[in-house]
Amino acid sequence: MAVMQAMEHWDGVFPVDAAKIARSLGVEVDVSSEMDAAMLGRFEFVNGRPRITVNANSNDVSRRYAIAHELGHYMLHHGDYFEDTCHALANDPRTVRDALANEFARELLMPGLAFETLIMKRNLVDPREMIEVFGVSMANLEYRLEALGWIPSKRVREAPIRAMQAEIRAMEAEVRRIEQEAIDLARMCR
Ligand SMILES: [Zn+2]
Repeated sequence: MAVMQAMEHWDGVFPVDAAKIARSLGVEVDVSSEMDAAMLGRFEFVNGRPRITVNANSNDVSRRYAIAHELGHYMLHHGDYFEDTCHALANDPRTVRDALANEFARELLMPGLAFETLIMKRNLVDPREMIEVFGVSMANLEYRLEALGWIPSKRVREAPIRAMQAEIRAMEAEVRRIEQEAIDLARMCR
């Protein structure tokens, strides 16, 4: 499993240093101050080498999450180029790959076993303390708690389905566009 493979490079320290893990997996990590304000992260291959770039103007929590998300695109072999705005990294992603990269990021930053140890043995139950420990947003903490079964919700299961439905709608629109083009073309050739 991709996230397990990445976790082998974790030093056991919280918050999980996603940049350090990425680097030990051979991925370059850059922080750029030239990125568009809406853009949080980018994944690309430069001269054949994988590179993650994150926005210098975003805060620590967003940057850590963006690195983990882009690393997800890399580890899950999603493709050669991704640019992510806050929408892609939010909890309502528009594509299946973003939904999967988000899942990867949450599993990386909030490893299941460590999470349960903190809750059970160290009695870490205050969400505000949890987001401090893991260095994540409250929304992502809630998602992870749901995924691990600590709090009940259907949102986790529905997110990838919603993203898939959006992709199907986009594909249907594309088919209609191509059909219309063919009709227009046929008319012109008459
Ligand atoms: Zn993405």
